[in-house]
Amino acid sequence: MKKIAVFPGSFDPFTIGHEAIVRRALSLFDEIIIAVGANAIKKCYYPLKTRKKMISKVFQNEPRVKIDHYEGLTVDYCKKNGAKYILRGLRTAADFEFERAIAQVNKVMATGIETVFLLTVPEHTHINSTIVRDIICNGGDASQFVPASINLKDYKGKED
Ligand code: ADP
Repeated sequence: MKKIAVFPGSFDPFTIGHEAIVRRALSLFDEIIIAVGANAIKKCYYPLKTRKKMISKVFQNEPRVKIDHYEGLTVDYCKKNGAKYILRGLRTAADFEFERAIAQVNKVMATGIETVFLLTVPEHTHINSTIVRDIICNGGDASQFVPASINLKDYKGKED
C-alpha cells in the first residue's frame, strides 16, 4: 500500500525550512500532500491561493508531492485522503512542546495515524514564517529564506 503523509501548516510563506523537511521526507514516504490550512480565524498575509501557487512552483518537477488545502481537523483530512502519517518539523524545545500536545491529541482521535517528526538541520533552526513575513512586510529582502524558485516579487500579500 502507498505510504502517504500529510504535511499540514500555514506556510505563510513557505520557507527553505519547510522545503528541506519535505525533500528529506520523500525518502520515507511514497507521496506527500502539503496541506495548507484554510483557517478562517488565523489571519494570513498571503492569500490561500497565493500560498498554494508558491508551493506548487517549488515542487513542479516532483510528482510525488501534491499541494492541497483543507479546513477542519487534520486527522479527518488524512482519513479522507488515505494518509496514515502526519509530517511535522521540529526546530526547538518550544516546537516540541507545542507539537507534542497536538500529536498526542491526534493520536487519541485517530489511532491509525502516526505523527512523524523530522528534526531541522541546524542552519534552518532560526527560520520561521513569522519572521520572514515581517521582513517582507517591512520591505526587506527575504529571498534567502524562501526556496530559490519562489520570486517574492511575483506574489502579493494582503495590505493591512
Ligand atoms: P503551523 O501554522 O502549523 O505552525 P507552519 O507553516 O509554521 O505551520 O509550519 C509547518 C510545519 O513546518 C511545522 O511542523 C513547523 O514546525 C515546521 N517548520 C517550520 N519552519 C521550519 C524550519 N525552519 N525547519 C523545520 N521545520 C519547520
